[in-house]
Amino acid sequence: MERLTDVSRAVTYATSLDEVLRIATERAAELLEADKAVLMLVEADGMLHVRASIGIGDDLVQRFAEPLDESLAGRLQGLLGSHDPGCFVAVPLVVRGQVTGLLAVVRSSAGVCSEIDEWLLSAVADQTAAPIEIARLDEELRRALRQAKERALATLAHDLRSPLQAIEGYAQLVEDELVGPVTAEQRGALQRIRMSGRHLLALQQSLLQLAQSRTEGPSAVAPRTTVGDVVRDATSIIRTEADARRQSVAVEVASDAMVLADPDKLRRVLINLLSNASKYTAMDGRITVVATHDEAHDVCTIAVSDTGVGIPPDQLDEIFEPYVRADAEAEAPGLGLGLTICRDLVAQMGGRMRVESEVGVGSTFIVELPTVRAEPT
Ligand code: ADP
Repeated sequence: MERLTDVSRAVTYATSLDEVLRIATERAAELLEADKAVLMLVEADGMLHVRASIGIGDDLVQRFAEPLDESLAGRLQGLLGSHDPGCFVAVPLVVRGQVTGLLAVVRSSAGVCSEIDEWLLSAVADQTAAPIEIARLDEELRRALRQAKERALATLAHDLRSPLQAIEGYAQLVEDELVGPVTAEQRGALQRIRMSGRHLLALQQSLLQLAQSRTEGPSAVAPRTTVGDVVRDATSIIRTEADARRQSVAVEVASDAMVLADPDKLRRVLINLLSNASKYTAMDGRITVVATHDEAHDVCTIAVSDTGVGIPPDQLDEIFEPYVRADAEAEAPGLGLGLTICRDLVAQMGGRMRVESEVGVGSTFIVELPTVRAEPT
């Protein structure tokens, strides 16, 4: 009884569906001293799929998708490999009179099952069925909300573009005196309108990029792209911005590494990082881009460093979240979306991103991408 109470407690404190499933399966195996255990849930296709298991090969588990019918017990014994005499118990998970899953264990030693074994497993199933359903609904709800938010974001970003362009266009028309004379004072106001309009357009562009990077997914067939070329491209694009702030930009490409990636996406990532490097570095600072290739592990690393303001240690993870800015009062314009977009794009290329930084000294954003060997000619 004590150990059963522990199961309830452990499940109550679990924070994700996977954790609840893992606890239920592990505790069931422990209580019955079983060497194999499996927990299955009825999924949207109406079939039982394995969601947690102990002592069963991954390939078997992944292939298993069976309807809930009379022949299930036989197929389950096949999955658990329990043809020899021993103990095999399977009990349903039931919520509001509906079977939502199945919990089964096999014990190869210590003889056949007793009624107590069945009772214990039923007790674990009864205790965990409802928390599992709650966790499952919670995940579904979160997913649906995220998708709705992303769709709303994409629509908004898309619909903002035309009116913003109209504001910019008409303001320019007036400034150019195409609809009548303009006083010096009015011209000043018009310039401010246009500057804000351009700022809004840049934000709109970021929102659209984020929505696209979330909904587009990886390119169907990614081309072979030479990293060095894209690094040099992106750096030349950013140079004007850096020159205006009298910052030096050094590029070191020590590799002819190739990655399977859309060059436009990689360029977008690097421009974003370089633009941040310039934005968050004072006048006369230094920006460095170094691309190296670890041929032994087929990994290419691109590091964008600056001698800027740096990022406090407790914010190094957070800045990759949407709308998070390390210093909310920062003078530098931005919406806190650039790094989120970068991380999404890098993940689509099969890579990862991280940052090292020291406040007042500078930051280095590191992109690691899996490389491909050049095609034999
Ligand atoms: P934005 O620049 O629009 O605010 P980002 O997602 O690109 O959005 O960056 C998020 C935050 O991370 C920035 O607001 C800034 O606080 C911090 N950050 C990003 N790059 C740097 C950098 N090179 N140096 C210092 N801080 C940085």
